[in-house]
Amino acid sequence: MDMIDPFGRTISYLRVSVTDRCDFRCTYCMAEDMAFLPKKDLLSLEELDRLCSTFIEKGVRKLRLTGGEPLVRKNIMHLVRQLSRHLKSGALDELTLTTNGSQLARFAGELADAGVKRINVSIDTLDPEKFRTITRWGNLPKVLEGIEAAQQAGLQVKLNAVALKGFNEAEIPDLMRWAHGRGMDLTVIETMPMGEIDADRTDQYLPISVLRAQLERQFTLADIPYKTGGPARYVSVRETGGRLGLITPMTHNFCESCNRVRLTCTGTLYMCLGQDDAADLRGPLRASESNELVSRAIDEAIGRKPKGHDFIIDRRTSRPAVSRHMSVTGG
Ligand code: SAM
Ligand code: SF4
Repeated sequence: MDMIDPFGRTISYLRVSVTDRCDFRCTYCMAEDMAFLPKKDLLSLEELDRLCSTFIEKGVRKLRLTGGEPLVRKNIMHLVRQLSRHLKSGALDELTLTTNGSQLARFAGELADAGVKRINVSIDTLDPEKFRTITRWGNLPKVLEGIEAAQQAGLQVKLNAVALKGFNEAEIPDLMRWAHGRGMDLTVIETMPMGEIDADRTDQYLPISVLRAQLERQFTLADIPYKTGGPARYVSVRETGGRLGLITPMTHNFCESCNRVRLTCTGTLYMCLGQDDAADLRGPLRASESNELVSRAIDEAIGRKPKGHDFIIDRRTSRPAVSRHMSVTGG
């Protein structure tokens, strides 16, 4: 019994933010003095497992753990190992995660053992000082060590970089050569107006169309039909032999093929990254030991999935399009 929304889209992909906390404070993502959720509001790992498993029963085939930083959630590997039973049974095609890489050196082996095959690592620059500036608290060598460990463990690593005007714009060619030289795809993402941060997003916003035009002065890019189930469109890069993903929430609306919903660590389900409407699943989850109530609440929520988002970044709109930070819904 598949979950199908009012626009005929089948929902087969669940992204779960397992914590809103993080050991970095990337300037486009968080304010430096972020207030985090009280620990008592969090779903336990068992509750997260129950919710994810209900979604899997209802047709989810791909599950991504994210955050905040998923690998700073206490005992996160317990959840990963629990969820991996759905890989073994064949109910789930893929269990994956998006991470800042800070803890990867420690967890890469265990992730691979649990059946994780691919992970996304976010990295915006290869310059240690710039890395410190953009993440405020991050340590580049530690992240590079994590990427190395992940590859050693047999995980397929994809890099994600947020394209930031005047910050890493000129460095994207090097980052791409570096990634492709090590067998990794690179995906570049436009900044989205989510949550109050300390900076002005108009100053950071770099349309991917502009970046692509810049890259085309040096590289031969060709559109290819490659898909990973996410919103990226891919091009092949003749000079490196690698693939570049382009995620363009601002300049190109990809909502028509949206197959996903997002669950937060407090059990709130967001049907769209760019809209405020949400459904509480923690209430129905805790109200009964059977999954009937929560299953019904999921159906009702999917029945309200909006057609799309309406992000804009310009100087007239000083407030973000959605008030919550990306670390709540997990990117
Ligand atoms: N901490 C993990 C990480 O950084 O990969 C997972 C969570 S993070 C919120 C997921 C992705 O969202 C990262 O690649 C990050 O760069 C991206 N991101 C955060 N805030 C963003 C924003 N305002 N616009 C676009 N991407 C954003
Ligand atoms: Fe943390 Fe990821 Fe947000 Fe950076 S992008 S502050 S690593 S959650």
